[in-house]
Amino acid sequence: MIIIKQGGGEIICGASMKDVPNILWLEEIRKEDIISVGGKGASLGEMASLGLPVPRAFVVTAQAFRRFLVEADLEEKIFTLSDQLDVEDNAALEKAADAAKSLVMKAKMPAAIRDEIKKAYKKMSKSDLIVAVRSSATAEDLPDASFAGQQETYLNIKGEAALLLAVQKCWASLYGARAIYYRAKQGFDDRTVNIAVVVQQLVHSEKAGVMFTSHPITGEPQTIIEGSWGLGEAVVSGSVSPDNYVFDQRRELVIDRRIANKKVEIIADGDHGTKLVDVDSARQDAQVLSDEEVAKLAMYGKIAEDHYGIPQDVEWGIVAGTIYILQSRPITTIGNKKEAKGMSGQKQDAKIILQGQGAAPGIASGKVVIIRDVKDTGAVKEGDILVTRMTSPDMVPAMRKVAAIVTDEGGMTCHAAIVSRELGTPAIVGTKTATQLLKNGQLITVDGERGLIYEGIFESSAPAKPATQQGGFSNAPIITATSVKVNVSIPEAATRAAATGADGVGLLRIEHLILGLSKTPGWFIANHKEEDFVKELHEGIKIVLDAFPGKSVWVRTLDAPTDEFRNMAGGENEPIEHNPMLGWRGIRRDLQSPDQFRLQVEAFKRLWKEGYENLGVMFPMVSHPDQFTAAKEMMRGWGVNVETATLGIMIEIPSSAIMVEDFIKAGINFASFGTNDLVQYTLAIDRNNENVADMYAPQHPAVLSLIHNAIQTCRAYNIECSICGQAGSDPKMASWLVEHGITSISANIDAIAKIREAVARTEKRIILEAARNCDAE
Ligand code: PEP
Ligand code: MG
Repeated sequence: MIIIKQGGGEIICGASMKDVPNILWLEEIRKEDIISVGGKGASLGEMASLGLPVPRAFVVTAQAFRRFLVEADLEEKIFTLSDQLDVEDNAALEKAADAAKSLVMKAKMPAAIRDEIKKAYKKMSKSDLIVAVRSSATAEDLPDASFAGQQETYLNIKGEAALLLAVQKCWASLYGARAIYYRAKQGFDDRTVNIAVVVQQLVHSEKAGVMFTSHPITGEPQTIIEGSWGLGEAVVSGSVSPDNYVFDQRRELVIDRRIANKKVEIIADGDHGTKLVDVDSARQDAQVLSDEEVAKLAMYGKIAEDHYGIPQDVEWGIVAGTIYILQSRPITTIGNKKEAKGMSGQKQDAKIILQGQGAAPGIASGKVVIIRDVKDTGAVKEGDILVTRMTSPDMVPAMRKVAAIVTDEGGMTCHAAIVSRELGTPAIVGTKTATQLLKNGQLITVDGERGLIYEGIFESSAPAKPATQQGGFSNAPIITATSVKVNVSIPEAATRAAATGADGVGLLRIEHLILGLSKTPGWFIANHKEEDFVKELHEGIKIVLDAFPGKSVWVRTLDAPTDEFRNMAGGENEPIEHNPMLGWRGIRRDLQSPDQFRLQVEAFKRLWKEGYENLGVMFPMVSHPDQFTAAKEMMRGWGVNVETATLGIMIEIPSSAIMVEDFIKAGINFASFGTNDLVQYTLAIDRNNENVADMYAPQHPAVLSLIHNAIQTCRAYNIECSICGQAGSDPKMASWLVEHGITSISANIDAIAKIREAVARTEKRIILEAARNCDAE
């Protein structure tokens, strides 16, 4: 027997028929049998041999087809039809094809083959099973294959007569005009071509879809699953926006689930074919897959991937709780970022056109709107992609509307990054050239996790959903000894933040409550609107306190650099500073602006009076214990019982890390590392400057040394020591912090699940090591 490999494809050729039976069961087939069963049959057999739940099937072998040709004396008749054929002559091609097909259809199938097919069909099921009858002639499912679908497939076949007819039709389809043309162009000799037919139980999936066993673009060990109601065709053809699930193989956890509005499904249409129908309203927004089903599918995917040694694109279906693996073929897109095949089976041009820092996770597609001046934000529509040099607090209303945010400047801790994460909006910062390179109206897709911007729209990218719908945070059953808290900047994120099940709020940045109003604190004071200012703070903070009853909420006093005030009413009175990051911000400014400080304290006082004892106050940018003492004394002067109030500091300047013992002696109740600033002030790296972003290193030994020493001092005095900078949202850093004795970690909303996981793992490891050491002694 010969296999001709040509033009990237493979066709079963010139059969030596002696030993191969007419029928092979899936369980008997291995990939080496491709010459007898074709690519599709070999792949199914291989999957079945791994123990994957493949629907029952048998293959009418290529040798059976050859025997048919010989016994019906068709070979020469058919081959002479194509001998002199000019395939470019359409009429002649059609005529030859019709003649060949008719020869095949009119011929009698040898009795032995008929009987064996009937017997196998009966063996599948006592009653007439509904089956799919698929041609399996070419190497369409092999990695380098480029020609698929030349021959026919018949779905929904029931009964012996229909089955025999369908098999014969598959055989005839080997001589379809398109197939003949293709083979002629590829240089295949029709005399040597064979065809096998797969007869497989048709799975009337109640839910179905596709799965990439590794991330289709980055190759990371994340299983991406898309699923919808009815047959998988709806997902594959892109007629429905499916649910999307991401399963992290390392943590064995569903880390993202986006539930789409599924308007239509494809179902079987009686005994003939399929039909597209509306999904009833109860199921439209319902979640298709449970976590258990996702995990099981991911496990099957992994088995296939491990076996083939290459990530797979798998079709699956579920009926009455039983999962079936319907097809598995290699993903061809990993490592080839030029072109990615869409999850919905549609070819998508996934050319990467720009890169930046992935600042807020999620994938979103939409139309670019470039905003060069905050005055133009009126142009931003729901679902657009906001592209700007850098966002500012007065852009927050526009940021709420958009599907994704892209900036030229900034790093992981810039305004755009912080607000986007809280809004649950995918964002990429620090692209340097987005506002020059992208064009208004251009369609792009933003991957906020990887920091990649693709040309065009990914059909399957569902809009980012709030974390409550994404993460399964609230039902995470992990209890950690180290408190895992959450950061909040905008009150509207409070519900999402609380849904993470966090042990409290380790940082509430109140400047966002004020800056969103587009007026500076100075404006409120100058315009005698102090009460409005206090009310705004009181209401905003109260929303967050209400979302965390009985859990501590550390509210930080104002900390906005002067440049962030510039575009607002009152901004004209802000001093022009060469370096606002080192300028008039945080506690320094409050101590020199008692009016501004007093209004904040007034809001806190009202809340304490209303019984919100869980409110703690945290001072930013303190560099000397005298500043803490001064702030405390001012508060005492305004009637705060500073002996009972919970007051603490951010450690974000090296001096405060070095002098933490003096702060403790001055009476702080807690300290929290603001690593966003601590890194920039220790390493002299502007945290918002994309030119030095690659040198911004929270794990720099100098930073770690400052943190380590401060933790040890806090532990010695039994003072709660926490972190609320971005580094606390990095699982590796969280693990290091737990090992070094931190009391709590406050992370971004989107990072809570993974931080809790990292903390739990580290704690367990520490306990285990301690136990082992005890045993060894
Ligand atoms: C920090 O500096 O780490 C911090 C949390 O504060 P901000 O990012 O608001 O400066
Ligand atoms: Mg800071």
